[in-house]
Amino acid sequence: MFDSLQDRLGGILNNLTGRGALSENDVAAALREVRRALLEADVALEVVRSFTERVREQAVGATIVKSVRPGQMVVKIVHDELVALLGSDQVAIDLNAPAPVTIMMVGLQGSGKTTTSAKLAKRLSEKQRRKVLMASLDTRRPAAQQQLRILGEQVSVATLPIIAGQGPTEIASRAAQAAKLGGYDVLILDTAGRTHIDEPLMAEMAEIKARSAPHEILLVADSLTGQDAVNLARSFDERVGISGIVLTRIDGDGRGGAALSMRAVTGKPIKLIGTGEKMDALEDFFPARIADRILG
Ligand code: GDP
Repeated sequence: MFDSLQDRLGGILNNLTGRGALSENDVAAALREVRRALLEADVALEVVRSFTERVREQAVGATIVKSVRPGQMVVKIVHDELVALLGSDQVAIDLNAPAPVTIMMVGLQGSGKTTTSAKLAKRLSEKQRRKVLMASLDTRRPAAQQQLRILGEQVSVATLPIIAGQGPTEIASRAAQAAKLGGYDVLILDTAGRTHIDEPLMAEMAEIKARSAPHEILLVADSLTGQDAVNLARSFDERVGISGIVLTRIDGDGRGGAALSMRAVTGKPIKLIGTGEKMDALEDFFPARIADRILG
């Protein structure tokens, strides 16, 4: 498949041993390869540009030491910079608020919102012993509410009873009330998506947010999202205001570039990753692993 960045840079830089420091020219040649590797890993162009600029600043003038090959040296700079940008610390789902703590899941259709809602509910109820209620606010797709109910049964988590004819905000209000009265610790709201970002979707999300005052708003996004990742993350963050990102389908062929793009444009942490279709395929996000994957 792809050559690793290490291999590519080795060919360009490793004959430099013996010279004192990396020159502008050496670094420019290396950065062309870095740029290519990032684009192949599906990192959005505007993010690639600012990222390579940061690497350039650190690499020009870096002293070539005998024990480390120059190629390796640049790979380490790139790797460390990737980890720094992806967020070097893990950030957990924040449940530190009066119960019921509301978590709103947003994202495009098919990104994995419903699946992730159920996975998260399972994790919170089994591992963290929270009493969780889930509610689907997706009244656009006929089977969406049923889908969440079935997943809820699978993971032994309660779902809000379905009342035909109610709109998303009505369901949100009913869910909040049911969570309060039922003594639930956490309420997960699974919202409707669209095939692409549009104003009605954003308006609906903003209204649901106003109605339910969520403590966490998680953008669920497919890790295979390419150049669109920037627009997606920026739109949801500017219009709705997200508190974190869940990256799904990390088990697929994607190289994870969307993680870098979304994190870079929003500054919001990637909190969880989806690693499969099964209900326990939800893991904490480790920046170094994605950095390795992006670098190939
Ligand atoms: P929604 O429209 O955003 O609610 O998306 P769904 O939750 O219905 O997910 C769409 C499809 O993606 C389903 O077939 C899920 O099983 C699948 N899916 C969701 N997350 C993952 C994941 O992390 N890995 C894989 N392989 N499939 C996933």
